[in-house]
Amino acid sequence: MSELKIDTRLWSSKARNLSPYVPGEQPQHDNLCKLNTNENPFPPSPKVGEAIAKVLGQQADDLRLYPAPDSDDLREVLAQLHGLDINQVFVGNGSDEVLAFVFASFFLKERPLLAPDISYSFYPVYAQTFGIELVQIALEDDFSIDPDAYRQPCSGIIIANPNAPTGLLLSLDDIRKLAGEHSNSVIVIDEAYIDFAEIDEGNSAASVSAVSLINEFDNILVTQTFSKSRSLAGLRVGMAFGNVSLIEALTRMKNSFNSYPLDKLAQAGATASVLDVEYFEQTRQQVKDLRKALTEGLNALDYKVLPSHANFVFARPKDGNASAVASVLREQGIIVRHFDKPRVNEYLRITIGTAEQNRRLLKALSAL
Ligand SMILES: *Cc1c(COP(=O)(O)O)cnc(C)c1O
Repeated sequence: MSELKIDTRLWSSKARNLSPYVPGEQPQHDNLCKLNTNENPFPPSPKVGEAIAKVLGQQADDLRLYPAPDSDDLREVLAQLHGLDINQVFVGNGSDEVLAFVFASFFLKERPLLAPDISYSFYPVYAQTFGIELVQIALEDDFSIDPDAYRQPCSGIIIANPNAPTGLLLSLDDIRKLAGEHSNSVIVIDEAYIDFAEIDEGNSAASVSAVSLINEFDNILVTQTFSKSRSLAGLRVGMAFGNVSLIEALTRMKNSFNSYPLDKLAQAGATASVLDVEYFEQTRQQVKDLRKALTEGLNALDYKVLPSHANFVFARPKDGNASAVASVLREQGIIVRHFDKPRVNEYLRITIGTAEQNRRLLKALSAL
């Protein structure tokens, strides 16, 4: 691509001062082993394609019309899935968009927003976009989150759980503690990876997701996405669950920005995905099994691997030279994520791929 000469003379100071999020690259190569952006290695449910084909086929004439502004059918199936009322569910164009509405609705206040210092790198970007002061709270030495470290005045707290890029899980008791101690602030739990969490034996699935707490705490808002566990990163669908008043704020924010964030294809495809429970359960279990195998393979090569509850592992080669490992892998067409940041620069974040991709990765690593 030729170098563009950009003239910012006509830009607002807001536009000039942005420092946008840089997504993991999407290189186009044959036989690339792409383990850098936590996409799901399995295709979405076949029901998704069927539903979208129907919208494009026998219902194509309806594309003249605007879609349902609040995606009622999709919200209804999500409400049923989680035992909630439809008014406790919000959906948007990817959870990144939902998070933008969250920042504007709840964190634009006098007090700062609190977030872990090592977490999803979109949070500092949104804070800057909206002019919100962000105070980053250091993770413990073992990368865990200490809820006591958050005991300070704030507009809100945002935590990815499982955290990214560590994959570690915060307990519901710790989330309860945060919500109880900050009853005048919104506690946002970004559960992009929660469907991959390992559940202790004897506990039900509801006991790792903070969705089970929203009837108990009116200040807990949970965001989730179709991008990871439902293999639909390309469809762009995200959601939030919370008290009706929190959801109403998000809806007003959405309607002040874009009334139709989800098109008809996305609404139909996402709804079909939720209804195919069997496929979902099957593929997420496969990803968890592949995670276990990859962790064992890395351990056998002397990598330290944090106990992951996500569809990636965070792993440190014995000599800590993660950047060199990433470069050598890249030369062989295997892309993993390396963060050139203090404390995490000795680690690689590796997405769980297919069994074949994981074998290729381990083979390349064992030859180093
Ligand atoms: C992937 C991810 C998101 C964004 O998901 P989209 O729905 O694709 O926008 C949000 N938060 C975390 C922590 C993520 O890893």
